[in-house]
Amino acid sequence: MRIGIGFDIHRLVEGKSLTLGGVKIPSTKGLLGHSDGDVLLHALCDALLGAVGAGDIGAYFPDTDPKWKGASSQLFIEKAAELASRKSLRVENVDAVILTEEPKLAPHRNAIQRSISQMLHVKDDRINVKAKTMEKLGPIGEGEAMACYVVVLLEKE
Ligand code: MG
Repeated sequence: MRIGIGFDIHRLVEGKSLTLGGVKIPSTKGLLGHSDGDVLLHALCDALLGAVGAGDIGAYFPDTDPKWKGASSQLFIEKAAELASRKSLRVENVDAVILTEEPKLAPHRNAIQRSISQMLHVKDDRINVKAKTMEKLGPIGEGEAMACYVVVLLEKE
């Protein structure tokens, strides 16, 4: 078995759309980023790459490369999943914590879990996504940013 951890944080700004786990979420604010800013998929990508022992997201998709401007972060997950499958590693489970004050993510939880399960070609009961507030503390608590931690377990086929 192989375990990986990923973390990411993006600024939350007015006038940007919000995509989490590949799902568009209605919100007055969205995530600033070179790609679509999907903080959950970026943390997931790093967790997968960590479990595979294949570096980090910046090594494959540098934010200095115009090719990835506005890119769907699903591409990053497909790449990381491909590296895992080349080593005959399959996803056992994924656990994620999104830190944000708003919007409330509970209504979108099932859709996000389903979306990630489809990207990774696993059943959706292997994906767990939680959301926590920061109790109004710090930049996340003040609604200026959203962060995410992801742990993934891979198993040799
Ligand atoms: Mg990122």
